[in-house]
Amino acid sequence: MIKTAIKTKAYAANGPSEDLKPFELQRREPGPTDVLIDIKFCGICHSDLHMVHGDWGVTTYPVVPGHEIAGIVASVGENVKRFKAGDRVGVGCMVDSCKECKSCEAGEEQYCENGNVLTYGALERDGVTMTYGGYSERVTVNERFVVRIPDALPLDKAAPLLCAGITTYSPLVHWKAGPGKSVAVVGIGGLGHMAVKIAAKMGAEVTTISRSANKKADAKAMGAKDHIATSDSAACEKAQESFDLIINTVSSAADMNLYLGMLKRDGVMVLVGAPAEALPVQAFSLIPKRRSLAGSTIGGMRETQEMLDFCAEHNIAADIEVITIDKVNEAYERLLKSDVRYRFVIDMDSLKQ
Ligand code: NAP
Ligand code: ZN
Repeated sequence: MIKTAIKTKAYAANGPSEDLKPFELQRREPGPTDVLIDIKFCGICHSDLHMVHGDWGVTTYPVVPGHEIAGIVASVGENVKRFKAGDRVGVGCMVDSCKECKSCEAGEEQYCENGNVLTYGALERDGVTMTYGGYSERVTVNERFVVRIPDALPLDKAAPLLCAGITTYSPLVHWKAGPGKSVAVVGIGGLGHMAVKIAAKMGAEVTTISRSANKKADAKAMGAKDHIATSDSAACEKAQESFDLIINTVSSAADMNLYLGMLKRDGVMVLVGAPAEALPVQAFSLIPKRRSLAGSTIGGMRETQEMLDFCAEHNIAADIEVITIDKVNEAYERLLKSDVRYRFVIDMDSLKQ
């Protein structure tokens, strides 16, 4: 059992239809390889909603969500070399992994063969201690799972990069988005808007696919060349066989066959969106054009640092609406209606008041 010691204010949900409410938890004193972080900002990912609402059937309550953490190092354990008090740092969706399997050795800790430890709602590797997320004052994390936030990135706009940024950067790199590639992004929310900005700076020709036309101007400002509203059937018809790669960020059940039809021969659609429902796929959406349907989850720690450095170099950050923690339940309701441009970020100082 990990020794717990530091009283920490947080917000938790006690059940699938409960509001988030004030909660107190214990953080461990930093061990030799740990970093203790004062959390300044935490993004609200749609996964937080899925988890709080129990959509995936894996939630243990009380759950303290939050895996888009940006903060300042408060103290470090005696063997920590990479960080010191005062450093600007981030923590994303994982706080541990086995560090020994082939995936961990390859720097792909998110695919740890012995199971990574998610930032909240998971058991630590001791098998008994629950992890609690970033809707809290501070967190203690093994240094391998802490990344440096470059000075060029403000902490509030950088927080969403820790999940939305890396979850889209990783498949864009893996499937080689770049000059000469036509990339479409489906769903212009937290993940989607980061995918657009990152793919455009990688040099790809980017098209946004949204349910309506009203995100068109924003999409162009983010770097998209074209925008398709799926409510416009003529535009969807015209877009058949147009894209090499589609990054699909849709958070609830939608017709995957519509998007698959927009892939060129040998095109790939990558699901990063994680609806609870099964998604029916027609065999003939794939077969005639040798298309692929793939999935991807977050990214490894080395790649997360690479993504932050890429964003700093190319002046990319999230478009955010900063809220105080007492507005979190309202923010969840608005996020369900896609009523945010494009990420809510909680100012964690509001927890101290
Ligand atoms: P978000 O901000 O709510 O964005 C999701 C977008 O999907 C919406 O803005 C909307 O875009 C579109 N959408 C929602 N319902 C739809 C429907 N029924 N039909 C068509 N489009 C729909 O959510 P997010 O934070 O970006 O997260 C998106 C999904 O990714 C969630 O399921 C989340 O759990 C998952 N996720 C996965 C990973 C991973 O590792 N793979 C990491 C983080 C999040 P328009 O308004 O433009 O249509
Ligand atoms: Zn997330």
